[in-house]
Amino acid sequence: MNQAAYPNAGRHSDPSILIVDDAPDNLGVLRRMMAGQGYQTLVANSGPLALSLARRMHPDLILLDVVMPGMDGLETCRQLKQHAATCDIPVIFMSARNDTDDVVAAFEQGAVDYIPKPLRMAEVCARVRTQLHIHTAQTALQHAAMADPLTKIGNRRHFDGFLEQEWQRAIRSAEPLSLLMVDVDHFKLYNDTHGHAAGDAALCAVAKVLQQHAPRATDLAARYGGEEFTLLFAETPAPSAAILAEAVRADVAALGLPNPRVPGGGCVTVSIGVATIVPTQLDDVATFFNAADLAMYAAKNGGRNRIHAIDKGNSTWESVRALVMPQLS
Ligand code: GH3
Ligand code: MG
Ligand code: MG
Repeated sequence: MNQAAYPNAGRHSDPSILIVDDAPDNLGVLRRMMAGQGYQTLVANSGPLALSLARRMHPDLILLDVVMPGMDGLETCRQLKQHAATCDIPVIFMSARNDTDDVVAAFEQGAVDYIPKPLRMAEVCARVRTQLHIHTAQTALQHAAMADPLTKIGNRRHFDGFLEQEWQRAIRSAEPLSLLMVDVDHFKLYNDTHGHAAGDAALCAVAKVLQQHAPRATDLAARYGGEEFTLLFAETPAPSAAILAEAVRADVAALGLPNPRVPGGGCVTVSIGVATIVPTQLDDVATFFNAADLAMYAAKNGGRNRIHAIDKGNSTWESVRALVMPQLS
């Protein structure tokens, strides 16, 4: 699984717990108890401090006192759930206020559990352990649903969601978005020569190259299907996208996977279509995707093992299409 796209994937260190309580005694006792269970601990004595620590450190779980001066636990939880960086961290409330209304209000803010004060430490440990198990299992399921089973990079479903998200973000920021459509050349011949299992291994090797070129959290390498891959780069103008595509093309060729039956003999290569756009509300993500696909076919038609880049710039996709189409015929 992609470490860059899924920052906590494959993390095997001890789980970390953020403990939030305005009473120093409680913080001390809870910290010792959690450390004794083998967890890494972070502490905060106020809501604002908890928010900034959670955003920076992304703990695996938060134990949150409800009654605190200034920002109380409910408001802290509400803000945690609103922020993309912290919304998936399970929050367990701790409170001496045990009226049904208080408990319900806590769950409505997104808490996963509510522990009554005074705290019984064995119970706190058991509840924390249970929530960590649930969270780990949920995260693993989410990652599995987003990964391509063969190559372990993103799958088509993940790519579609990511493209939509980055498309909307690019509209808001007016930054260029670049999409690479990557198709392995003469891959049927590779399978015919070496067998399907070797073909699978070659696809994994190609995917690894793509992954290496998508290190930022806003980049995504995905297997779109069969021997077709996509790469999405946010905030990337056309010239940079073309340079990236050329580097990907060169690195795949440099794998040196022999594909002797291709015309002229040689190695496994890829043809890459590149489309770049600064999208507005008037643009359509499907047209953008088709433009990258069209550019990929232009690269195939131009002789394979090459890139073909198109940039919407101030023109329309129709005029871009007019530029690409003659090369396709
Ligand atoms: P072109 O250069 O025009 O793209 O030629 P191509 O042979 O790559 O294209 P074509 O679409 O004719 O064939 C795609 C091949 O990719 C055929 C199919 O068996 C192979 N393929 C698709 N998915 C997989 C897979 O998961 N594993 C393996 N080993 N092969 C696959
Ligand atoms: Mg192909
Ligand atoms: Mg294909």
